[in-house]
Amino acid sequence: MTVATDEFGLIRDYFSDIGSDSTGSVRLSVGDDCAVIAPPSNRDMVVSIDTMVEGTHFPVGTPGDRVASRLLGAALSDLAAMAATPAFFTLAVTLPDTNAIWLRAFSTRLAELARLYGVQLVGGDTTRGPLTLSIQVHGWTVPDKALLRSGARPGDRIFVTGTLGDSRGGLETLLKDIHGEQVPFLQHRFFCPEPRLDTALLIAPFATAAIDISDGLLADLNHILDASQVGAMLNPDELPVSDELYHWVGEEQSRQWALTGGEDFELCFTVPALLEPKLAWALRDHSVAVTCIGQISATPGIFLAEDGQIWPVAPQGYNHFSDKGSA
Ligand code: ADP
Ligand code: MG
Repeated sequence: MTVATDEFGLIRDYFSDIGSDSTGSVRLSVGDDCAVIAPPSNRDMVVSIDTMVEGTHFPVGTPGDRVASRLLGAALSDLAAMAATPAFFTLAVTLPDTNAIWLRAFSTRLAELARLYGVQLVGGDTTRGPLTLSIQVHGWTVPDKALLRSGARPGDRIFVTGTLGDSRGGLETLLKDIHGEQVPFLQHRFFCPEPRLDTALLIAPFATAAIDISDGLLADLNHILDASQVGAMLNPDELPVSDELYHWVGEEQSRQWALTGGEDFELCFTVPALLEPKLAWALRDHSVAVTCIGQISATPGIFLAEDGQIWPVAPQGYNHFSDKGSA
């Protein structure tokens, strides 16, 4: 294997043929001064960028394939939160050196996932420095059909996809070098977030607001509440937690991580109560779990209903479940 030492060789070897645009809008890809895109008629473009820094967003020494899946998964998750169809992306990489093993693992995994999600790498930038990677994703929505944070109304049910807190558990196993039965599952959840793109398209006709959970359920739900000028009542008993996380850390810790652990990249969305049966029907054959965890209220703030009592909880300051929101 010849390994490129110059920047152009490196781009050619690792970044010139990654993914494909399932929407067919890319006219010119990597290699010229710009990519050329022909937007489909009657579509809005949605755009989002995510950056990851070694030592901040992933541990120093993380293999390239794990960085690739986390970076692209997180970026595509923002498109899912808008109910957009991914089309193409750009990639900025800052590399401390030319580590062929790391780069090959990174670009191979990136290519696999880009194909899987129908999204094409059309350009980027390559520089020297501390390991930092940014992906900017672009997708399409039907005009005025992007799912915003601002549409939740009192009485709407609050739903989440998948299970919550696993990614936080995975991070804990990495930070504390923990080994055991649950570790592969939890670390997979940390490194390979699955953008809920298909789920988003199924729920979009019914949803009034949506967000992807990157900072933790309470923090991200709070963005919906702020944008929609409403509050929420949550039922902590309904929070979906994986068996793996529950068995490893128990009820209280798994609940706390479900509420505040970030990087799950699941969706949180709201649906009018009257449309719940239609939502259930639309999801009848869908493989991703969708769970109702509470409802929107007119009273501002987030409240937890537990043991017949109601506790206010701070969106960022939730520390310990038994504190009953006093944090
Ligand atoms: P310029 O100097 O004109 O900005 P560059 O020399 O940075 O162009 O890049 C040459 C080509 O390679 C461009 O098409 C650019 O988009 C692409 N490119 C550079 N780095 C990457 C990367 N990491 N991934 C994908 N494409 C890249
Ligand atoms: Mg140029």
